[in-house]
Amino acid sequence: MRMSRYFMPILKENPKEAEIVSHRLMLRAGMIRQQSQGIYSWLPLGKRVLDKVNNIIREEQNRSGAIELSMPTLQSAELWQESGRYDAYGKEMLRIKDRQERPMLYGPTNEEMVTDIFRSYVKSYKDLPLNLYHIQLKFRDEIRPRFGTMRSREFMMKDAYSFDLTREGAEHSYKKMFAAYLRTFDRLGLRAIPMRADTGPIGGDLSHEFIILADTGESEVYSHKDFVNFDIPGVDTDFDDVAGLNAIFEKWTSVYAATSEMHDEEAFNAIPQSERLSARGIEVGHIFYFGTKYSEPMGAKVQGPDGKEHNVHMGSYGIGPTRLVPAIIEASHDENGIIWPESVAPFDAIVINMKAGDGACDTACESIYAALTKGGKDVLYDDTDDRAGTKFATADLIGVPVQIIAGPRAVANGEVEVKDRKTGARETMTIDAVINKLLG
Ligand code: ATP
Ligand code: MG
Repeated sequence: MRMSRYFMPILKENPKEAEIVSHRLMLRAGMIRQQSQGIYSWLPLGKRVLDKVNNIIREEQNRSGAIELSMPTLQSAELWQESGRYDAYGKEMLRIKDRQERPMLYGPTNEEMVTDIFRSYVKSYKDLPLNLYHIQLKFRDEIRPRFGTMRSREFMMKDAYSFDLTREGAEHSYKKMFAAYLRTFDRLGLRAIPMRADTGPIGGDLSHEFIILADTGESEVYSHKDFVNFDIPGVDTDFDDVAGLNAIFEKWTSVYAATSEMHDEEAFNAIPQSERLSARGIEVGHIFYFGTKYSEPMGAKVQGPDGKEHNVHMGSYGIGPTRLVPAIIEASHDENGIIWPESVAPFDAIVINMKAGDGACDTACESIYAALTKGGKDVLYDDTDDRAGTKFATADLIGVPVQIIAGPRAVANGEVEVKDRKTGARETMTIDAVINKLLG
């Protein structure tokens, strides 16, 4: 992408409305724009990061055996009357009427709709287990939307829903998601701690929130420090192996971790002082087992091996991609801007032409840009005629992992400078060497 043709509205000034660093940096880097309270557009740079986050989530959901579909944002109130949640949900639900005066709503979650899909097609235990997910916008009319897309009214959620014949089966489905979440957050460059959680309006008796530690987090959390060193389930994890998944789950729930709602002061104080962690955290995911809470009132039954009809046992599993992007920034930035983990960076590298219009600089930059792009890399080429200082500041702000800097002196020797955004380390290399390094 040539910067001269890209749309990346960088703000020079610090936006006054931003209270936390991720919100400030997302506005300054031109990633998002507020359209009305708690409702955002994702501008091109932000959209690139969001897509990368969603792709990692999708890959790990698929790996665990979940199947993607797409359900609408607008739902009919009838389904929610069946489950009894239409009245229970309260003011967070945005209620709308269509031209025939039929009550509709903008979905805050999809348990009812997915249960309706399930009951329409699945009739036998032989078709179980089943886990269906989508990545879709939700709307919750939050009392206090704040911190940009961290807590917005319209936001994106990956929500998965599992269906099993028995409670044991449902627990296995729950543990599949548990392991998939550990892998997902790890690939996003985050260390998320699963904490026992309250089930809230979703209902049920088994639930974990996945929390990443950050001073600006809205949750108060208490945990054992051991979590920092636990191993993440490998890429070869067998999600059908009940004992294997149990072992992962047991390990990751073996030490104390709870949010303030579930906090047990006595259990926490039993941990040696030096191993206690009391901090603030951001909830990036939440998983629930809730049994037959929806299948019963909505009649989602399958025929079991005994020939009888059984209400299916269900769970639901959410991750918030539009919250994860700022959460990643909270965890990874410095005074100059964002430091993206490679896995979600909007571009793999940025080529900075320090003297656009200079024949030798232009030729060097064009050849690097062409070779890397051909090799499948996402490259941003700063070909504008801004001052070098402005270009460096922009590159640091938007946090692309590798900066390739081409100035007249180095280029005269067939060389460029390569800067690592994270460490700040600089290295002078030949043009061929830099291309090989990135493509190697
Ligand atoms: P919170 O406690 O932060 O209000 P919640 O418990 O209501 O969230 P869930 O219903 O568990 O949220 O939703 C699953 C995931 O969706 C959350 O873990 C979070 O990542 C994301 N999410 C929920 N509400 C919002 C929001 N208002 N803005 C952005 N992301 C959200
Ligand atoms: Mg929650």
